[in-house]
Amino acid sequence: MAPVAIEAVRAFVTATYGANYLPANPRLYKTAGKVVAQEAHEAVRPTHIEVTPEKFMGQEMAQDEKKLYSLIWRRSVACQMAEAIFDDTRVVVKVNECELTANGIVVKFDGWKKLFTKDKDELQALPEMTVGEKLEKQKVESLQKFTQPPARFNDASLIKELEKKGIGRPSTYAAIISTIIDRRYVDQKDKKFFPTSIGKAVVDFLMANFPKEMDYEFTAKMEDQLDDIANGKLTWTEMLSNFWDGFSKKLIQVDKDSARVGVPTTGTGVKCPTCDVGEIVIRDGKFGRFLSCSRYPECTYKAPYIEYVEGVVCEKCGKRVVMKKTRTNRDFYGCEDYPNCTWASWKKPQPQADGGVPKDGEAQDVDKESLGKTETEVGTEEEEE
Ligand SMILES: [Zn+2]
Ligand SMILES: [Zn+2]
Repeated sequence: MAPVAIEAVRAFVTATYGANYLPANPRLYKTAGKVVAQEAHEAVRPTHIEVTPEKFMGQEMAQDEKKLYSLIWRRSVACQMAEAIFDDTRVVVKVNECELTANGIVVKFDGWKKLFTKDKDELQALPEMTVGEKLEKQKVESLQKFTQPPARFNDASLIKELEKKGIGRPSTYAAIISTIIDRRYVDQKDKKFFPTSIGKAVVDFLMANFPKEMDYEFTAKMEDQLDDIANGKLTWTEMLSNFWDGFSKKLIQVDKDSARVGVPTTGTGVKCPTCDVGEIVIRDGKFGRFLSCSRYPECTYKAPYIEYVEGVVCEKCGKRVVMKKTRTNRDFYGCEDYPNCTWASWKKPQPQADGGVPKDGEAQDVDKESLGKTETEVGTEEEEE
């Protein structure tokens, strides 16, 4: 934060919370990652710290904007407040040969945590106890726990992982994520990433043919070299030719040697209507899913892939509801009779007792351009990556 902002926050903390919430000296923070040339700007912070989230709430403002302001404001103030002080307590209970332990915490002084009241509930307090006290057994509970697989990545956790591995930098994270979505390497469901069959095929191919470039270290090292160039320690022509001389030869070699990679398909059990021999399969294409013949390229049968939503009908015309994607790969639901019927919804319609969909007139904001996309274009697009 700029010195003028730190001064303002310190004055605000003293006036609002009292002098004991103010550390003796301003706090200065270093960036967590490597210090690079592009990071020389200050943090995002409120222009006027005296505009508290409470004052801000009164304004005509979207809910998200209020939340964002509150987050930035609290972080900006808290980072210049005194440390919170806790008493760590550890109780050891001896039961014959075994020892049982319990860890607890007592808040002596809340400090900066004053601004994050929610966290208080998470602290575990222990009851009063004295050394040597005899304890009565009240209950024995046996729990079986299973190791959970790591959670799927979402935007935030993927960026964290990239940061950890030294890949990319704040200005490129958004581009990295939109690229894997735009190229359909991943599907997003409930904000989580799921690799598509294209994504898997691309990674398999690259791992087999470009192991050096696919190594996390390679990208991290290249970032270091870019910093060296920015800091004048390395000339860019030298760095590029070191990389390109080997890589360009490899590209030509791989292009010559490797066979075309088929993206795995999902069978439907239905016979192909064109050749009457192959099976209709679901393929992942650059522009979405579509149906084709298992005998491609000998048979060129192609049809749009339509995923119907079970148990619901269009609230406008009563025809079936289909899953669609916008051009930015966002899921939505629409009437199968588009463009004759333009009903659409971002939310998945839930089956009703009478077989209809909820009449909330939801999401007429699905943009008109996206509406017809899945059915009209997908089936005619290029077959293979
Ligand atoms: Zn066929
Ligand atoms: Zn309809």
